[in-house]
Amino acid sequence: MDFSKALIAIDGSPHSEHALEVGLALARKLGAEVGLVTVVDPAPAVTLEAGAPSVDILTMLRQEAVQCLEKARAAAAGLRVSTHQREGAPAPEILHAATQWGASIIVVGSHGRTGLSRLFMGSTAENVARHADVPVLVTRLAGAKG
Ligand code: AMP
Repeated sequence: MDFSKALIAIDGSPHSEHALEVGLALARKLGAEVGLVTVVDPAPAVTLEAGAPSVDILTMLRQEAVQCLEKARAAAAGLRVSTHQREGAPAPEILHAATQWGASIIVVGSHGRTGLSRLFMGSTAENVARHADVPVLVTRLAGAKG
């Protein structure tokens, strides 16, 4: 079984920071290449603004995504890393990134920025786990509410 390419999905939440930590540890153990993916989701901004999101909000979200990827890239020092910034609904975009990049495993947090704490896992994590063609590692942040 091939685990040479680990795609780690990050959204800037403490849960995904934990997923990053676990994913990087795994990649170091396996000598795997790392892909970091973050998805800018314009949908919440659209709801907030009752229409198309203003350029300012999207620009801000895109800048946040760049920072999120750069911070994660720094944490992955010493590993072979590529970053993937996408736009759209998070789960399908993570899955597309996995296919396009040729991921052999996907790492996600059990919850994220939007996940409801009462749920066993958030909808992005669940949809990725349900639909991925490769194994999915769902990490849980011990002691976290949600
Ligand atoms: P959720 O299911 O939205 O609560 O998020 C669970 C996990 O999915 C997070 O910890 C991340 O690993 C991943 N995730 C959620 N949203 C995004 C996003 N916009 N970009 C990349 N990864 C995400």
